[in-house]
Amino acid sequence: MAANILDGKAISAELKVKVAERVAALKARGVTPGLAVILVGNDPASEIYVRNKGKGCEETGMLSRTVRMDADTTQEALEAEIEKLNEDPDIHGILVQLPLPKHLNEQAALSRILPEKDVDGFHLMNVGRLAAGAEGVVPCTPKGALYMLQSAGIELAGKEAVVIGRSNIVGKPMAMLLLQQNCTVTVCHSKTKNLKEHTRQADILVSAVGKPHFVTADMVKPGAVVVDVGINRVDGKVIGDVDFEQVKEIAGWITPVPGGVGRMTIAMLLSNTADAAERTLNRE
Ligand code: NAD
Repeated sequence: MAANILDGKAISAELKVKVAERVAALKARGVTPGLAVILVGNDPASEIYVRNKGKGCEETGMLSRTVRMDADTTQEALEAEIEKLNEDPDIHGILVQLPLPKHLNEQAALSRILPEKDVDGFHLMNVGRLAAGAEGVVPCTPKGALYMLQSAGIELAGKEAVVIGRSNIVGKPMAMLLLQQNCTVTVCHSKTKNLKEHTRQADILVSAVGKPHFVTADMVKPGAVVVDVGINRVDGKVIGDVDFEQVKEIAGWITPVPGGVGRMTIAMLLSNTADAAERTLNRE
């Protein structure tokens, strides 16, 4: 029987409606949530993401600001721009669009963002809070993936979860979130031996690798929940890591690409920005 589809388009649209309601409530109290994106250089994929972030702000009633900097900008200039936004009371969320040009130090730049304005959740303070199970800002893509599972009412406690990929932006925070949900979590990566032996144990299988058709049907336990985070461009088309046509015949639930986790990322970014604005108001 074909898997149930976890529809990122529908779930992200519902989440954006909830965010818009929160924005309206904040505006009624005199605060318009503001999101600033710093874009260094003109990477075409980054341009698209930044445009979509602006669109998301517009849809939900937030203030959106894009700070464009030349590709040869210096670390000092980038950090000075971050400082300005840190001090700007109209801006509640700051995001530095990654990747940065090679000559810039990403972690140093991200660490200049005030942790409470770090809506991407990449500041080491927020990384530590997530690892410690304390309240903080959680990276948007894994948080969005978890939201999809929860909104479908998928039981997580006690389940075997396998995450393929150990990046700081997806794999590791995804593993932390699943652990918080009381899954038994295995993290696989490029040096993992006998990958299939691990993945076939998974009740929840998350792929964040970045290789098309990487997860094949023989790697999936019948009835498993398969979350495809991968975004790969092949012959002008966007596809995920999972061989969708084959795997959907075996899985219990599956996220499509496009129309899956990718849709959740921006919706969650808007939600994190609304959180940041609410925190500011509550502090005052
Ligand atoms: P990354 O390149 O930083 O990490 C890839 C991970 O895959 C690494 O940890 C590596 O160990 C693992 N890996 C590579 N080859 C492997 C193998 N043969 N077996 C097992 N593991 C292997 O990438 P990332 O930033 O984590 O992104 C992963 C994918 O998710 C990419 O396709 C990216 O475009 C996509 N992505 C999507 C969203 C979204 O909004 N949906 C957001 C971020 C990233």
